[in-house]
Formats: sequence, C-alpha cells, structure tokens
Amino acid sequence: MKVYLISILILITSCKQQIESDWVDRSKHESLYDISYSEMFETYSTEPNPEAIKNTVDNLEQAKVYFDKIFKENLNFAVLFVDNSNWNKYAFSPPPGMPQAHYNGNMILGLSRSVMATRAEQGLKNVPDSKLEILKQHFGEELNLDLFYRDALSLHELGHLYQFVKTGKGTQRHWLNEIFGNLCQVAAAKNLATQDVFNRMDSFQLFLINSNKWGSLNYKTLKQFEEDYFEVLKHGRNYGWYQTQFYIKAKELYSKFGNEFLYEFRNFLIDINPEKIGKLSEKELKELMINTFGNQVVEILEWEHVS
Ligand SMILES: [Zn+2]
Repeated sequence: MKVYLISILILITSCKQQIESDWVDRSKHESLYDISYSEMFETYSTEPNPEAIKNTVDNLEQAKVYFDKIFKENLNFAVLFVDNSNWNKYAFSPPPGMPQAHYNGNMILGLSRSVMATRAEQGLKNVPDSKLEILKQHFGEELNLDLFYRDALSLHELGHLYQFVKTGKGTQRHWLNEIFGNLCQVAAAKNLATQDVFNRMDSFQLFLINSNKWGSLNYKTLKQFEEDYFEVLKHGRNYGWYQTQFYIKAKELYSKFGNEFLYEFRNFLIDINPEKIGKLSEKELKELMINTFGNQVVEILEWEHVS
C-alpha cells in the first residue's frame, strides 16, 4: 500500500513538472523560423537570420540564470522576434514593438527598427539638444530606443512569464502584476554583467517623468487601471505614464528589500490568485499586504493619484 501511494505521488509530481516544462504554446510559432539563437530557451523569428538581437538574447540568458536562482525554477520559454508587418498576427496589442508576455510561455519582441521605438524617437525631435545629452550617452547619438523597448523591457516580460507559469490567467490586480514586472525588470538589469541596460531604462524613464510631456491623461487612478485596463493599454501614452509610476516604486522597493522581496512578491501573487481564493476587496487586500510585507512596503505602494 505504501509503495502504491508513493508511486502515485511520484506520478503526480512528474506530471506536474511535465506540464510546467512544456507549458509553451507552440501553435503561436506557426510559420516562424526556428532560429535557435540560444541553448537556454527557444527563439523564433519572422526573419531567417535576424541581426541586432544578439544583445537581447544575451541579456535574457543572464536574466534567466538570475531568475531561475531567485525563484528556484528552471523555466523554459520562447521568445518571438516579430517584424512590424507581421506584428498583429502574433501579438495581442499594437503598436509593433510593444513587448508583451503571453500566459502560455511566449514573449513577443520587436525586430529591427520597431514602430513603437520609431514613434517614441519622433517624439524627441523637438526636444532641445541640451536635454537629450543624458539619453545620447546611453542610447547613442542616433537615440535607438529599441534598446529600451526590446532589450530593457524584455526583462520585464520575462518576469511576467515566471509569474504566469504559476498563476496562469489568474490576476487579483493588474497593478500588482505590473509592479512585479517592473521589480523583475529592475532586479534583472541590476544583476547583468554591466549596468548598461539599467542605465538606459533608468535614464529614459526619468527623462519621461522629468519632461512631463504627457498632456492630458484620461486615466490616473488604480481603480481605472483595473476597470479600464484594456482601454488604458490602447492609449499607449497613458499606459506609459502608469508604467513610469510603477517603475519608480519598483526601483525603491528593490533598493530597500532586494532579492528576497522579489521572491516573496511572486509567492504573494501565487497565493492571492483569485482562482484559488476569490476576488479580494480593497480592504482585504491591503490588510493582507500589511501582514505579508509590513507597513513600509505598503506605504511605498500607496497611490498618490486618487482622482
Ligand atoms: Zn508588464
């Protein structure tokens, strides 16, 4: 009987591992080239031999080593490099080059010069040279913002995959997911061999905040971020504004609480999966966060924009 029970247990455990190691939805790779640019994860592209993505792959390999260690995983995932003209076939949201992670193990990144980066570069055309100095130091004279949208943000999307492998579609709050994505982005960048990627993401986010060229924003509260999430996502500028807010908080949290916090935050997202415990009220969520992380963390996460 005992042996019987143990073998059932082993069977269950191995099935579970099987599901996780093979969670990648390969139907999304249809008509893409398998470019095999990494031995650590799967890589596909709309072009047979894409150039200028070596650094992205290299950063993702380093980030995988780091996340595997922090989260005690050996995660398989797939990175799809998709050009502008094929974007809508593979991604769930335009514009081409806006990086995204899918629930089933795929990450979609832009290829070559993406529409997303090119538009953002156009937006810098009227900015006086003196204000662009710091960006040019990190992004080069040409201000290639694919170094932000593809390279730097790929770390953020990879963070989401480490979450989705455990939570699936179960989301208690979109804003908590995005705090986690930003935490992963900051933490992975800080742990790369050089600080280049961190300096790029930091200088660009701070530039956006300091230049304050958002114009009028339709959405500013966390309630709106939850209830109108896909509307906010469609308004790229407004979504970008929310991301800068999350970024600043994530940076502060990581600098104060480090790797251990990253691990705890992911566990928290797994534990509060609404598929397990139902939807929490604002009051319940806040209490749970105070009990789990303490007041200091909850104060940092406090949202200033309430109307
Ligand atoms: Zn995100």
